[in-house]
Amino acid sequence: MSVTSTDVTEEFIPSADHLVAHNERFSGSFQDGELAVAPTMRLAVVACMDSRMDIFKILGLENGEAHILRNAGGVITDDVIRSLCLSQRFLGTQEIVLLHHTDCGLQMVSEDEFKADLEAELGIKPRWSLEPFADPYGDTRQSMQRLILTPFVDASYLRGFVYDVTDGRLREVSQAE
Ligand SMILES: [Zn+2]
Repeated sequence: MSVTSTDVTEEFIPSADHLVAHNERFSGSFQDGELAVAPTMRLAVVACMDSRMDIFKILGLENGEAHILRNAGGVITDDVIRSLCLSQRFLGTQEIVLLHHTDCGLQMVSEDEFKADLEAELGIKPRWSLEPFADPYGDTRQSMQRLILTPFVDASYLRGFVYDVTDGRLREVSQAE
């Protein structure tokens, strides 16, 4: 199996023109030009990039209220720590909310197979870790633990949740003992 293979067989039509047309209408009635750069809720959310999760809708957030950091899995990587460190020290956020979810793409891949496929196809393995997991609750706990252990982020106000993609509910994850 090639790493880049997908199940989609129809012809691919890029969306950028459609997005730009939407933006013409959006900017015509734009009202957020006075928002401050620092998030008003002093909150940073770290979430998976999953396309079914509208973070603003799920949490009832408005534009300007929080930093939203997203990547595959909502993993606490060095780059997420970089962003949180800046968010806290330069832009005044204090609270961190982690948002993982059920049925994540990272539950369906194997780190070793993924990297072996890449190496077979490209002749090189990435340095980064894919960080797949079996249990989203355990993975959320692992992410909380990373934030507690890094010196660069203040985790005094830290909570972690798993979003259930089948019913829209959040379930809180307790920190590691
Ligand atoms: Zn995911």
